[in-house]
Amino acid sequence: MTAPSKNNELDLLVGRMKAAAAPLREVLREVHGRFAGNDEGKVADYIPELARADRNWFGISIATTDGQVFEVGDCQQLFTIQSISKPFVYGLALEDHGLEHVLSKVGVEPTGEAFNAIVLDEGSNRPFNPMVNAGAIATADLVKGKDYPERVTRLLAMFRKYCGREMYIDNSVFMSERMTGHRNRAIGHLMLNFGMVGERVEESLELYFQQCSVLVNCHDLAIMGATLANGGVNPITGERAIQQPYVKYLLSIMHSCGMYDYAGEWAFRVGIPSKSGVGGGIVGAIPGTFGIAVYSPPLDAKGNSVRGIQVFQELSQRFGLHVFESGFNGQQMGDLLAPVRGGA
Ligand code: GLN
Repeated sequence: MTAPSKNNELDLLVGRMKAAAAPLREVLREVHGRFAGNDEGKVADYIPELARADRNWFGISIATTDGQVFEVGDCQQLFTIQSISKPFVYGLALEDHGLEHVLSKVGVEPTGEAFNAIVLDEGSNRPFNPMVNAGAIATADLVKGKDYPERVTRLLAMFRKYCGREMYIDNSVFMSERMTGHRNRAIGHLMLNFGMVGERVEESLELYFQQCSVLVNCHDLAIMGATLANGGVNPITGERAIQQPYVKYLLSIMHSCGMYDYAGEWAFRVGIPSKSGVGGGIVGAIPGTFGIAVYSPPLDAKGNSVRGIQVFQELSQRFGLHVFESGFNGQQMGDLLAPVRGGA
């Protein structure tokens, strides 16, 4: 006889959450209301298109692995996915080449450095991990296709499977990213120098700028998280977005490297494999249970959404969602479960 696993406990929690759908919405509304008043942070302005975001936009969405969605706030507002694209494109590269080949080109070691640091592993010349720009550009280089249009099409098809709808690129963000992306070009050419990317590096940089410019909303991100939480199958459409054996690699890299140079502290405090982007989104996944997304454009100094961090921290602590939580404390779920316990 084995002790009940954490997953069983999570199943139990989700069962209760579903039974208590109204209270969960209430919890999200309360959390949303509490953090909406926090006006800290700075909207990204390295290109004019991002600076136009309204700093008050704020959405929270939870999508369960059986396809229920609970959300509050600005969950339909479109924004560019930016760095949140990185783990998903890493998944495409894994499917295209298998683990060993991808590992020979991109490591899996956290850097503790800013996402756009121009640094490669001295021994292997590999970028440290696929979540920093160097690793993401090397990863984009691995996306297969007979020509550039086919590679872009495959990229969009991949995101379509995760989101369950047609995907579009914000062309003005894309144009601005490519016009101002000198640092990313420098990184690409440094890797070309070391033979870590091929001669089509310029094209791969374009692909990287395209992936950053994919338009999503908070609702989409929650479904993407739920798809990872669900072993790679979109829980709404039933379509597989990524082969199941690769899902754990995406989640592992999100856990160790997903939150820029705050990744270690995030793993420690929040303990939910997550990825953020400078557009203001954060997506997280609780395996077997649900995906969570927050959208709020003001960023802290490291590039993470200020309100996003607060919401994840609050929900993780309140419901014991930390991946290494040893058990649930019923008290913590207090108001959420009260109506269920009361027989409602
Ligand atoms: N597109 C930007 C870059 O590559 C920012 C990506 C991000 O969200 N950090 O520099």
